[in-house]
Amino acid sequence: MTLSLPQHYREILKGLGEDPEREGLLDTPQRAAKAMQYLCHGYSQSVDEVVNGALFASDNDEMVIVADIELYSLCEHHLLPFIGKAHVAYIPTGKVLGLSKIARIVDMFARRLQIQENLTREIADAVQRVTQAAGVAVVIEARHMCMMMRGVEKQNSTMHTSVMLGAFRDSSTTRQEFLQLIGRSK
Ligand SMILES: [Zn+2]
Repeated sequence: MTLSLPQHYREILKGLGEDPEREGLLDTPQRAAKAMQYLCHGYSQSVDEVVNGALFASDNDEMVIVADIELYSLCEHHLLPFIGKAHVAYIPTGKVLGLSKIARIVDMFARRLQIQENLTREIADAVQRVTQAAGVAVVIEARHMCMMMRGVEKQNSTMHTSVMLGAFRDSSTTRQEFLQLIGRSK
């Protein structure tokens, strides 16, 4: 027999030495299961679904940047949150994405169990595939609760990851322009 997600949380409470019958915890397994399902809702989404055809013809071949996209994810090693910002840029070749879609792509991959490196790569690959851009750049800066609350307890360290594809990889001028626009270059 398999346990439901709330039943598993009940077992976790017992494993922690808690009494799942005490008043404050009675509804906790249900609530925790619901919260976790929400935090992982990206598993039930696909890029095509999220983009939903919002690709528009455009002559613009200048860099498009969406900066400071709020990001909430869970690290797959400890199931603890990591929280930060994503900056995404691409250079269109005839098609531009609807404004909110980049943020929704970020969210879809963030709402799964992740490590920051893979999250960065998955966002870049998805934007590349959808837009067929001449280049895609993704930078993520995030603080990891698994570092801040346990282990080394480093409260102020931020992890930075980046993936550069196409023109952002080949041209240091393009890369510099992007980093400057998101305030990441000296
Ligand atoms: Zn972790």
